[in-house]
Amino acid sequence: MRVVKSLKQLSGIVRHAKRNRQLIGFVPTMGYLHQGHLSLVHKARKDTDLVVVSVFVNPIQFGPKEDFKRYPRDLLRDIKLAKAAGADIVFAPSHRDIFKEGYKTYIEVGELATRLCGRSRPGHFKGVATVVTKLFNIVDPDIAYFGQKDAQQAVIIKQMVKDLNMMLKIKVLPIVREKDGLAMSSRNAYLNALEREEAVVLYVALKLARALIKSGLKESMKLIKIMKKLIIKKPSVKIEYIKVVDLESLQSVKEINQRVLVALAVWFGKTRLIDNIVV
Ligand code: AMP
Repeated sequence: MRVVKSLKQLSGIVRHAKRNRQLIGFVPTMGYLHQGHLSLVHKARKDTDLVVVSVFVNPIQFGPKEDFKRYPRDLLRDIKLAKAAGADIVFAPSHRDIFKEGYKTYIEVGELATRLCGRSRPGHFKGVATVVTKLFNIVDPDIAYFGQKDAQQAVIIKQMVKDLNMMLKIKVLPIVREKDGLAMSSRNAYLNALEREEAVVLYVALKLARALIKSGLKESMKLIKIMKKLIIKKPSVKIEYIKVVDLESLQSVKEINQRVLVALAVWFGKTRLIDNIVV
């Protein structure tokens, strides 16, 4: 496995792979890898010939008051994990190389970016779409892998790929969870012992939502109220949103008559966690 920092070197490798008709699989990440990320690498390894994992903490997807500076980073550990999972290349460009001085171009993704997390994180998905486009241009993958953990991100990337005639396939893989059900996330590292224990309630609430919908509950408001009641029992919690939305438009659904995404963002102390379930 090679660790590549230079864009020029990476594009040389990509060109060589294309000449040899190799399929390129790409897993974009912000590093601090865990089994959620690695599940994407494993799948890319199965599907493609050259597996590229990028590690880049994207400054433009963080708001001014968000955790860009303290976002966990450990490139050496990431390299070991990516290698063990079967990656061929860890691409870890510098911020200066990706956003050169005077950088001006952004990708706007329309109203999808204003829903769910977009409300409290204006500009977040513009930052994501822009950096993902740049990485797609550099890596030129045949297939790129994303996690359902960031359900809104996956919907937005798929829409962007369709709208901009990008010639690659997007695969979205299931959420990988800890044994107790907490969705794996680099941000779980922020949680103290009590918050970590309390955070399990998110999956408990999502499973309850699934059970209630399956047993015939149709009113989203009622469902959300029951979930809220369960979650706010935990002392360090602040709920940002719990929503029942359409899988494609991400618009709120009042009456549940088709498959829906139940998505939430909840703070535990100073840590914001997101999770979701499709029912
Ligand atoms: P991040 O490093 O948080 O930007 O995540 C990189 C990719 O890994 C994104 O496509 C995420 O959706 C995906 N991912 C993160 N956590 C998980 C998880 N627990 N299960 C599956 N995929 C995940």
